[in-house]
Amino acid sequence: MTARQPAAPRLRCLRCGAESPLGRAVDGCLACAKGDDRASLEVVYDYDAWRAKGTLERWRSLRPSVWSYHELLPLASGTAPVSLEEGGTPLIRLDLPGPGRLWVKDESRNPTGAFKDRGHSVSVSMAKALGYRKVTASTTGNHGTSLAAYATKAGLDCLIFVDPRGPELQRRLMQLYGARVAVLPDRRSQLAWLVRERGWYPSTGLTPMPVCTPYGIEGYKSIGYEVYFQLGERMPAWFLAPVAVGDIVYGPWKAFKELERLGVEAALPKMVSVQPTGCDPIVQAWRERAPKVPVHPDPRTIALSIGDETAGVHALTPLYESNGRAEAVSDEAMLAAMRMLARQGIVVEPSSAASVAAALVMQERGLFTAEEDVVCLCTGAGAKWPEAVHMAAPTHELRDQDPEAFRGWVRAFDHSG
Ligand SMILES: *Cc1c(COP(=O)(O)O)cnc(C)c1O
Ligand SMILES: [Zn+2]
Repeated sequence: MTARQPAAPRLRCLRCGAESPLGRAVDGCLACAKGDDRASLEVVYDYDAWRAKGTLERWRSLRPSVWSYHELLPLASGTAPVSLEEGGTPLIRLDLPGPGRLWVKDESRNPTGAFKDRGHSVSVSMAKALGYRKVTASTTGNHGTSLAAYATKAGLDCLIFVDPRGPELQRRLMQLYGARVAVLPDRRSQLAWLVRERGWYPSTGLTPMPVCTPYGIEGYKSIGYEVYFQLGERMPAWFLAPVAVGDIVYGPWKAFKELERLGVEAALPKMVSVQPTGCDPIVQAWRERAPKVPVHPDPRTIALSIGDETAGVHALTPLYESNGRAEAVSDEAMLAAMRMLARQGIVVEPSSAASVAAALVMQERGLFTAEEDVVCLCTGAGAKWPEAVHMAAPTHELRDQDPEAFRGWVRAFDHSG
């Protein structure tokens, strides 16, 4: 018996279920829109047909990477993706006592040092395929640097709105890649103007309450597939992600659910959204089992990548559906986790260390059993956040020119004689 040809992927509204063909959907669902209140769209596939074709068996033999899983990606087969060899990042077992086996999924190994590259490989590929010539985004740093890299690879014009609080190093990187940079406190209205009036492609969700970027999510979900195969075809018990808008918890959650649709029978992981105590609207919503994320009146944290004042509904649904949780960790706990990780050879930014800091707190509270796999997503590299590295690293540099001072300094820490 030959399996039937799978139907083409479609966009579906997370709220009303309305479906439409893949297209220039950047503004959430129009079918159930109430003014500015829009629901996110996501890409859905003909899972039963892909299952019957033995997709899971084929994936088993592949090296993990974003495009290994192309059957469940929106780009038409036969179209070359815009790729810089993103994904396929290592899953590293931390050298820490249990209970629970703690793992880091190290997304700092991506081309621009953040998981955003997975999203942009798919999202910029789709922008190009849909006929866009210009792409734009709003960022504190990582998102824009990543978009700049993929836009240049695709040959598209790129304009990035940058939060003035973000590091200058990242703005330089964007320009080194060839993007234009506008440093504006009010980025949203100008971005919306470019997109709605001038036809630019936004790799950032638009409407006032954030909606997910449907094609970017498709790139992020490869993290979930990779973790499953890297654990030897096991689901982790827990999956912790540092979350701002929500795409980074929604993408992997979508992957775990899709693996189930393809035939995996294991229990799905409990998803955990991690935020800073100084900006924790998702945690507040989760505690009250609220359907929406409130707007934080005054975000204050060193973890700018997860310091957004609000998030989309898709930041919450994975927590409710998986019986997961939301956790807040202090800036100090992030810096401590950053130092601990560095001592194991992994340097990430404070936002990324947040997932590990939260795992340590949950472990302390007795939430893990001995045999559970706990995957902490480390979303981005430390090297692009120089101020955070300064904060995390105490300095013991010697500057004294006197030769005896040098020898005394060595003797002070060289106890082996
Ligand atoms: C963007 C980003 C996040 C948050 O991702 P969202 O999809 O906005 O929730 C977390 N960590 C790092 C390092 C990021 O760059
Ligand atoms: Zn809808």
